Amino acid sequence: DPRLQGISDAIRVVPHFPKPGIMFNDITALLLRPAVFKDAVDMFVERYRGMGIAAVAGIEARGFIFGPAIALAIGAKFIPLRKPKKLPGEVISETYVLEYGTDCLEMHVGATEPGERVVVVDDLVATGGTLSAAIKLLERAGADVVECACLIGLPKYKNFYKLNGIPVYILVESR
Ligand code: IMP
Repeated sequence: DPRLQGISDAIRVVPHFPKPGIMFNDITALLLRPAVFKDAVDMFVERYRGMGIAAVAGIEARGFIFGPAIALAIGAKFIPLRKPKKLPGEVISETYVLEYGTDCLEMHVGATEPGERVVVVDDLVATGGTLSAAIKLLERAGADVVECACLIGLPKYKNFYKLNGIPVYILVESR
């Protein structure tokens, strides 16, 4: 797809952010280019439209940039998966291990119904730890997680890598 080159070119790679040795893929540069931003959203919309997707679940914070645009275009609801202590209602949580320490995602009870087909959206997949926690959280609530969708992924995610048995779809490889 010719749109992929433009998407890849619009992602800015920032060395040594947020710490020395890390190559940070910055999608804010892509957001400043509406035609490219639209291309990225459109590619996901074309993939998930007409698949009976009831919900798009976005991971805080950058999954909140792409997820709602995709959800509205395919006629699905949007479920925010948030960092701890942000959601005011009753939540279920899933803690996951990071390189240093742990993190946690929370979802409101009742955000999804058993059997609903859900797509999980984030900007980038690296180890897959964050997406795995999102999958577990949604599956514990009875959702049918169809796929995870990210703009950027390590090369191993190209050609359908699976996390907990769920395919991960990426648009471009991280540099
Ligand atoms: P994982 O859990 O190791 O797959 O890391 C993915 C999570 O870390 C996602 O929520 C990303 O938003 C965030 N992340 C890791 N590296 C980057 C990056 O280079 N740019 C933007 N987000 C990143």
